[in-house]
Amino acid sequence: MTDQTVLSYLDENLLPFFFCPGCGHGMITEQLNAALVKLQLDPHKVVIVTDIGCSGLADKYFTTNAFHGLHGRSVTYATGIKLANPELKVIVLMGDGGCGIGGHHLINAARRNIGVTVIVFNNFNYGMTGGEHSVTTPMGGLTSSTPFGQLEKTMDICQTVAVNSASFTARTTSFEKSLPDMLAAAIQNEGFSLVDIWELCTAYYVPNNRFNKSMLLSSLDQLGFKTGILQHTPRAEYTQAYRESVALQAGKPAMPAHPIQARYRSDLDKRMGMVIAGAAGKKINSAASLFCRAAVLSNLWVSQRNDYPVTVKSGHSVSEVILSPEQIGYTGITKPEVLLLLFKEGLPAVKSQLDMMDEQGIVYANSELLPIHTRARVVPLGFKKSDTWAAKKEYWVIIALARLLLDTNFFPLDAFKEAVSGRAEFADNNLRAIEFALRLSA
Ligand code: SF4
Repeated sequence: MTDQTVLSYLDENLLPFFFCPGCGHGMITEQLNAALVKLQLDPHKVVIVTDIGCSGLADKYFTTNAFHGLHGRSVTYATGIKLANPELKVIVLMGDGGCGIGGHHLINAARRNIGVTVIVFNNFNYGMTGGEHSVTTPMGGLTSSTPFGQLEKTMDICQTVAVNSASFTARTTSFEKSLPDMLAAAIQNEGFSLVDIWELCTAYYVPNNRFNKSMLLSSLDQLGFKTGILQHTPRAEYTQAYRESVALQAGKPAMPAHPIQARYRSDLDKRMGMVIAGAAGKKINSAASLFCRAAVLSNLWVSQRNDYPVTVKSGHSVSEVILSPEQIGYTGITKPEVLLLLFKEGLPAVKSQLDMMDEQGIVYANSELLPIHTRARVVPLGFKKSDTWAAKKEYWVIIALARLLLDTNFFPLDAFKEAVSGRAEFADNNLRAIEFALRLSA
């Protein structure tokens, strides 16, 4: 409520409306203003949210807050606004075009019962872009994209959100005198409300179909679409329910901390970028993670980035690991100091990094993949040479990482042994892989 009576929520300086003569949009905008006057809401606590379409022109006429976004997405913006500030009355103005494009958002807003009011300017076509058909075009309706008549069934917007538990739905026409009361009731509902308002697009749907008010009313009858308040079943509003549920977690950390105490020393004096190129299912990412843990045990900073295709069980698997004695800012690796090339699937994914490496770099490569084209020094890894156990390909990455530690001073091998022993079910085989690396390098 306001301290002073608000006589109008429209900016008189911008009137008359820019809509085509006879367009229902002007009538609905006027009636929404009348509803707001009736409710006397503080204009600072009202947000009109619109998306693309002629109805999206309406927000600028209001002296409330406004947000104009992408086509069909107004309900998502409204959801975010309401979640961020539950005190706001959030009112979405969208056309039937936006309902079709953003149908998914409508359904989910209804399901979660977010406290926004959606007012649908339903004139059965896309007015702004030339009168194409929409999800509400009546069957047989002539539009620029259905010149032989609409074949698809008309979507019942109210029923669509109602079956998804909208707490308030109503349908009427722009000609209905009691429209301000209906809009006021929808706005006052604490949960998700939708009002489907049938109206005329005088530029396209009316001339294309010789359509008029009485045909609009008879269309409702023919379709069996009822009017009035169709559903009003109050239930917990989402923003409120969400705040109550997270309040129980107040003061608690989102995830328990598991600090790692450094017990080893590293002689690494500069940042070192390493790439491990392998294949899906060969424990590349998990081994890299253990390697990083060992680095932290050795008082280093680490970062790890994994890359694999959406088909997580086929194709490449690559880990980029940075070790540094100082805090790491940028976590990308353009030119690695070390590259572990273990499986052929990984090669295309690291080709550009391999090409960037120079004589200072080292490539530990599965000998079966040699020769490779690189300026870096290549150290072959003969996994299958001397031990049938080494045919277990999922341990090749541990073997290669252990071999790297034996050849460098990044951090002690004991730190890696401790890291790979963390989970009892894998510890024996991990340690066995490290023993194999010792024999490989001997
Ligand atoms: S094109 Fe149709 S919906 Fe758009 S302003 Fe004109 S009459 Fe209204």
